[in-house]
Amino acid sequence: MRLPDADPGSVARGWLEAADLPTGDPERLPVVVVEGGQPGPTAWVTGGVHGNEVTGIAAAQDVAEAFVDGPPVGEYHERRNATRVGVADPAAVRGRIVCVPVVNPAGLRRASRGSYYHDEDPNRAFPDPTEDAAVGSTVQERVAERLYDAFADADLLVDLHTAGAHSVPFVIRHRVLHGDLRTEREALELSATLDRLEDALGIPVVGHYPPSEYVERGLHRSMVGAAVNGAGVPAVTVELGGHGTVDPTARAAGVAEVFRALVAFDMLESVPGPVDRDAPSFEVPVDFRTRRYRGPRTSTAGIVRHRVAAGGVVEEGEVIADVRAPTGELLESVWADHDGYVLGHRIGAAVYENDAVASMAVRDDEPPVAERP
Ligand SMILES: [Zn+2]
Repeated sequence: MRLPDADPGSVARGWLEAADLPTGDPERLPVVVVEGGQPGPTAWVTGGVHGNEVTGIAAAQDVAEAFVDGPPVGEYHERRNATRVGVADPAAVRGRIVCVPVVNPAGLRRASRGSYYHDEDPNRAFPDPTEDAAVGSTVQERVAERLYDAFADADLLVDLHTAGAHSVPFVIRHRVLHGDLRTEREALELSATLDRLEDALGIPVVGHYPPSEYVERGLHRSMVGAAVNGAGVPAVTVELGGHGTVDPTARAAGVAEVFRALVAFDMLESVPGPVDRDAPSFEVPVDFRTRRYRGPRTSTAGIVRHRVAAGGVVEEGEVIADVRAPTGELLESVWADHDGYVLGHRIGAAVYENDAVASMAVRDDEPPVAERP
């Protein structure tokens, strides 16, 4: 994949050749390069690896647009418009920002999470350098491999997603695993960089699943998982609200998070005023470190009714949702099995037995650095 050339202090748009399609056209990923006025780190900003998580696409686009026709160094435009174009000067950037707003164009075309090449989840297709990925790899894995090769020497990667229905925005911090690819000391260094990044962000940070569940679910082969645990690139997953259509508030939160990350990596002096002003503020509703959790789970099939809104704090044993029969009567109350808060609701109301009704942030007892299971 070849990035478009941009002169120092300018913005260039182009396409990354991802694969050939059976219909004779190339599958291309849109790319915008913001070439800073001074040398410095390279940051990648990606969206739409899940094709229906469109608020992430919009946020990645608007990070790049913020630099189009921006004001001179040291000034920020105070334009009051919905998209915040031209609020920052590319010449004021140290380093290079590479924005790829649509990583999964096949998913975007049909408004679905996956691509249709072989119906895979593109965010579990990135290479695991401990495995021989070339054997039997699918076209989706080849596309992910080409993208991985392009970002593997980056200094920062922010991947923008949207979580479940009504979700609050949050950042997922991946665990740094040591083993074949890096020593414990190297893993601790990478984790310290993630600490610095975490401190700079404005929305709640939630740890990823415990190490064995993380690997079992293939999350080390997600884009951020492969960046952190394969290439050793500091990276975070940002989960915005707004699934299916662009949510303006969540979009603004996403743009601001990327700018905060750029400032934390000394690529910019400060977050542009209009970007900062648009960003909604979020309080972490609990005073302990949390991790992702899918649950609690139902024991009966039926139609779920939530009782706790996203962002709401729950204690273990508290009722979080009810399951009703199609005829309306209560079948089951679903109790929280952990302390924490609700991140978002399950998409869709129908549940089978043992389905998780919500996504939660629960007390995290696992260390941020661990030996790879
Ligand atoms: Zn996603």
